Amino acid sequence: MGKTNLKWDGSQRFLQQSYNASLDQVKSLVQSHKIYSNHIMNTLQSYSAKLLPDPQPDFSCADVVFNLPLKDAYTYEIPPHFSGMIKKGMRVLVPFGRRRLTGYVVGISHKNEKNIPLKAIEEVQDLEPIISRELLSLTRWIANYYHSSWGEAIKAALPAGLDDVSQDKLRLTEKGFRALTEGTQSTQATYILQTLRSKKRLTPKQLDRSLKKKYSPSTLLKLKQNGMVSVESQITRSSLKYKYEKVIRLVENPPTKEEIKELLKRSPKQRAVYDFICRGETTISILNNKIPRSSQILKNLISKQLLEISVKKEEKRLSQPSFSEEWTPENPLELNKEQNKCYRELKQSLEKSVFQPYLLHGVTGSGKTEIYLRCIQLVLDLNKSAVMVVPEISLTPQTAQRFRQRFGNKVAVLHSGLTQKERFIEWKKIQDEKVSIAVGARSAIFAPFKNLGIIVIDEEHDTSYKQDSCPRYHARDSAIIRAQKQNALVLLGSATPSLESIKNAEKGKYHYLSLEKRVHNRMLPIVKVINMKQEMNTKKNFSIFSTSLRKAIFERIKRGEQTFLFLNRRGTANYVSCKECSFAFECPHCSVTLTFHGKKNLLLCHYCNFIIQKPARCPDCGVEVIRFSGFGTQKLEDEAKKLFPEARINRLDRDTVKGRESFESVHRKMNLGEIDILIGTQMITKGHDFPNVTLVGVIYADISLHIPDFRSAERSFQLLTQVAGRAGRGKVPGLVIIQSLLPDHYVFDFVKDHDFRGFSEKELALREKLKYPPFTRMVSVEIESEHEQAGELFANRIHKALTRILKRTNDIEIMGPARAALYQINNRFRRHLILRSYDHRKLHSVLSRLYETPEIKKSSNSKIKLTLDVDPINLM
Ligand code: ADP
Ligand code: ZN
Repeated sequence: MGKTNLKWDGSQRFLQQSYNASLDQVKSLVQSHKIYSNHIMNTLQSYSAKLLPDPQPDFSCADVVFNLPLKDAYTYEIPPHFSGMIKKGMRVLVPFGRRRLTGYVVGISHKNEKNIPLKAIEEVQDLEPIISRELLSLTRWIANYYHSSWGEAIKAALPAGLDDVSQDKLRLTEKGFRALTEGTQSTQATYILQTLRSKKRLTPKQLDRSLKKKYSPSTLLKLKQNGMVSVESQITRSSLKYKYEKVIRLVENPPTKEEIKELLKRSPKQRAVYDFICRGETTISILNNKIPRSSQILKNLISKQLLEISVKKEEKRLSQPSFSEEWTPENPLELNKEQNKCYRELKQSLEKSVFQPYLLHGVTGSGKTEIYLRCIQLVLDLNKSAVMVVPEISLTPQTAQRFRQRFGNKVAVLHSGLTQKERFIEWKKIQDEKVSIAVGARSAIFAPFKNLGIIVIDEEHDTSYKQDSCPRYHARDSAIIRAQKQNALVLLGSATPSLESIKNAEKGKYHYLSLEKRVHNRMLPIVKVINMKQEMNTKKNFSIFSTSLRKAIFERIKRGEQTFLFLNRRGTANYVSCKECSFAFECPHCSVTLTFHGKKNLLLCHYCNFIIQKPARCPDCGVEVIRFSGFGTQKLEDEAKKLFPEARINRLDRDTVKGRESFESVHRKMNLGEIDILIGTQMITKGHDFPNVTLVGVIYADISLHIPDFRSAERSFQLLTQVAGRAGRGKVPGLVIIQSLLPDHYVFDFVKDHDFRGFSEKELALREKLKYPPFTRMVSVEIESEHEQAGELFANRIHKALTRILKRTNDIEIMGPARAALYQINNRFRRHLILRSYDHRKLHSVLSRLYETPEIKKSSNSKIKLTLDVDPINLM
């Protein structure tokens, strides 16, 4: 196109927003007759019709999947001007029904196989694939195995907020406007029309929110049908992109000095602007500051081919505390004998670059982290990259700091404390290969490294590794699949491995490594179990604290040592009832009692966050007596303050930790010895290493045992061992006091003796007898409905469909349908069926066939939500 002068104004903005493309990139595309979108093509054509040759008849299609529960891929035509531009793993904007949606290209073919008229791709949103072929194949595995759609799995692998979203916006029409002024409408309709008149454009949700109780969906529907309200779909562009800015500069081959003089002769203003730019390229805003109202002048100068506008990646990055330049790398610790033995084996395997999962079973405080760090260092030396996954709550600033201290700015950290933008920046560092280590929670397994050497999963037994929304993948199991494809090593570490992993180690699927001793031969803590029934019955002690725990805390305070008090329940009381009529305060939306939070005098639902002020009188009988039963961390704190007035007490749970700062400040105070007693939920059990904590009190150990789940003993064992492991990590041996109303439960015996092997043997034997995982595989079919009866009917229909499919097989068992233990959450009624089999392939084939049954096909447009949970870990 040579020096043809294009006015880019309209299309350029469009380009900037849509493609992240620089003007130069677009120019070169234009030159090679490959232009990005219909819109641009039209714009360009209107500017310079001669520019474009007739489109080539080279026809091809793309298969596109969406972040929607739709199993199939949809085929779209690739218009000629996109030909050759679209690759697998790119995002495209396509028409979908009434809407336009972002989808992911997962296949490209050269003919329209289905032979049906196709819609065309409207925009291409990436210049390069945003998701690699390798991750495409991993997400496809996840979709197949966990029965989500491929698009949903891809979405889970990408940072949140990346895609443009299309939203329905309501608008008042001319007709609606007239109806409003004439006052012909019903009160409810008038509310809607009035709101739309003042707010112009609203999504149905926003309308609902601003009208609250006055909102009526059926009235809205009528208004739409009568043409008084129109719906248009509007695209909200994602803000997560590189920033681009326009700069003005001299053209590359300017005319001669004489010609310029001639061109600018009659306009001193143009001369001034031109001279300004001669001193160096600048942005429009800077220019406008220097020379007000310069935009028309600028246009003239551009049309005279003296200046041009170019789009540049803004170098100044979003505010981000960068790692200080003066960091000094932390020196690796000298490995002890046990650690060395493990490391040597891992090293051999890493150097061979073969896929191999390892289970590193090391007691608390045995120095597993140092082994992870060594392996990661080795992987970097081999010019590969590493992923380190930790449970969300142990991803404390200290964990991140530790990695930064060792590896400097080679680390990207992905955790939920970051804003969407910050997460995107971290992710982009990985995508652009600016770092070689990713540390993060569950989703870090999708870190887009091209050459992975190792994936470490710390605390591999942790339940937070299973995503509880679609796709319900397990990070550990998915990581193993990824590593297999990349010939990488997987290192699973834990002091209390899951029974699944123990079984896999027994079967030889995982290599088993162990660290049996704490570093420096420090003793494991002494564990005592206190019978709280006896405390009450014989000692007449009705306090939260047993006499032994109270005594032990006093001693610690005297000696200047620190105490952890662990209670896995927040609030003041978990059960508030009327003494007179026994009325109990329950959440109106969930089948649980409300928890009393005394400080603010509130009753709170821990499932849906429903909140009310505690009434002074019983709403049922009107009497003033209200009784509190059960207790949470807040009550524990109040009691501790009364009992140990001289102690400095802090609490760490979801009610006290709002930002990262509070977490850090507690950590700092602990290290400085400014806290004597730290009270907390699970939050205090992980990711902390305080050498001066010599006592851990478990206030009410039975909570996790009472959970109606076949894994409750395993969970309790893990939790108690982890909590106990916080004691005595320094030179002074630790003491753990566990208070329980069921002290004879077998779990406590094994915890007391630190006998993981004994526990796992007993528990595995039980599981085998009862046909539970890891011996069998399970799938939970969950049904959620707004209407109780509809849910029940549907559950029965699913049961029927399953029975029909299973008619001739007897290796799959159906349990249920039954109400879930938490029958109602957030106004939705929950039921489930559980399928169980020794052969997981058979289970999967049943599920695929279930999707083909009329029962399921009909359900897709009803108000019932059906979810499959493969290898469920939470059966509540
Ligand atoms: P784990 O994760 O197994 O519970 P950590 O990795 O947190 O244990 O290690 C416990 C403590 O021991 C840490 O303070 C760590 O710095 C220290 N440590 C680990 N390995 C060694 C070693 N080889 N020499 C000295 N100290 C070590
Ligand atoms: Zn609730």
